[in-house]
Amino acid sequence: MAGAEVILQTRAIKGFKDILPDEVHIWQRIETVARGIFRCFGFSEIRVPVLERTSLFVRSIGEETDIVEKEMYTFTDRNGDSLTMRPEGTAPVLRAYVEHALHLKSKVARLYTIGPMFRHERPQKGRLRQFHQMSAEVLGAADPFTDAEVMAAAHTILAELGAEASLEINSLGCPDCRPAYNRLLVDYLRSRTEKLCSDCRRRLDKNPLRVLDCKNETCRAEVEESPAVTAHLCAPCAEHFAAVKENLASLGVPFRENRFMVRGLDYYRRTTFELVTDRLGAQSAVGAGGRYDGLVESLGGPKNTPGIGFAIGMERLVLLMAEKERGLPPGTDLFIAALGDEARGHAFRLMHALRLKETACLMDTSGGGLKSQMKQAGKTRAGHTLIIGDDELASGLAILRDMETGDQKHIPVTEDIETTAAHIAAELERGE
Ligand code: ATP
Ligand code: MG
Repeated sequence: MAGAEVILQTRAIKGFKDILPDEVHIWQRIETVARGIFRCFGFSEIRVPVLERTSLFVRSIGEETDIVEKEMYTFTDRNGDSLTMRPEGTAPVLRAYVEHALHLKSKVARLYTIGPMFRHERPQKGRLRQFHQMSAEVLGAADPFTDAEVMAAAHTILAELGAEASLEINSLGCPDCRPAYNRLLVDYLRSRTEKLCSDCRRRLDKNPLRVLDCKNETCRAEVEESPAVTAHLCAPCAEHFAAVKENLASLGVPFRENRFMVRGLDYYRRTTFELVTDRLGAQSAVGAGGRYDGLVESLGGPKNTPGIGFAIGMERLVLLMAEKERGLPPGTDLFIAALGDEARGHAFRLMHALRLKETACLMDTSGGGLKSQMKQAGKTRAGHTLIIGDDELASGLAILRDMETGDQKHIPVTEDIETTAAHIAAELERGE
């Protein structure tokens, strides 16, 4: 029993994952590229808490959704308040927008955030319980240029990172036209109830739109001939959708209409979209989003504040990124192999001086032979190695080895550490 407990303590919880040093550079690259693109598209970063009141998510995402019904990490804290680890970023960002009256700061708020999300679902490839999203929201703009701009931002991030995904779009209408469409759809589905899966039979009463994107083969076949939501939009919604498509085309962003794509969250209105791929098995979407014009108001914000946003799943993005886009973890600039006690003390001070000159520098302070130290230089993927023994110190010349080409040259090393460090730093810079 004790043994089993020890093993459990040394394993992360199911669905939670470490991002190790040899893969963290991929994440850093994704974030750097995304931040650059967000900036170009006019977005500012906002950082919001990981914990929120449960009611925030229930009210915004909707009670009848997979997330609220079965995926949230909800608990009662020591004060008896019901809190939830955020399953998505839109609700917290909108809560912050309302709380800080950000609508007073600018006509349109463009906000992005990057961070962990939590959903209790069955872990598999590209599906975790703690995962990461980069998400963006535009609040205060209802026009169809904005929809195209937001999709273009998501598309650009993926393209820039070499992650191939296709953009699929749909329109779900608005409170004016959706109820009538819902009735039409329910009528159509009622005549086929016995062929639908048990989930869809339940959805029929609660959330009929969701039957359209059921993954079950028989359900798929049954909805094939169903009325299309886009054929039953009210005039303003139809006009908006046509303009969105025109604007996307005008930017040269490729897309495909998919009338079966409905998204799982209740708050969507009009435009919805997904960035899909066939390279992630059952997990086909790497990113998704849509318009949610009533949401800000329903969270107590100013009336008639339109909104639209998207989220990209970063674990899936990592899986999609081509090998060449991932790169290698950066190595150290210089490894100092010091042989002998005097040389070691000298190297230690030299290492510090180089670090202060922005040269990444490492040595094995515990000593060891040349062979072992050269091996470590290789493991740290050092660009160069400086070899200093007590003899070199006495002669005033150490050996600087370019680890890629194997070229070696002599470098003057003196008691004047600053000058020696400056010399080496200049030498490394020359080699770059
Ligand atoms: P799915 O249909 O795969 O469950 P979703 O519709 O629940 O996705 P969204 O809520 O739209 O997903 O989240 C946006 C993106 O976040 C998804 O496209 C996906 O890339 C990522 N994502 C969602 N849930 C997970 C998860 N459990 N693990 C990893 N990534 C996830
Ligand atoms: Mg999901």
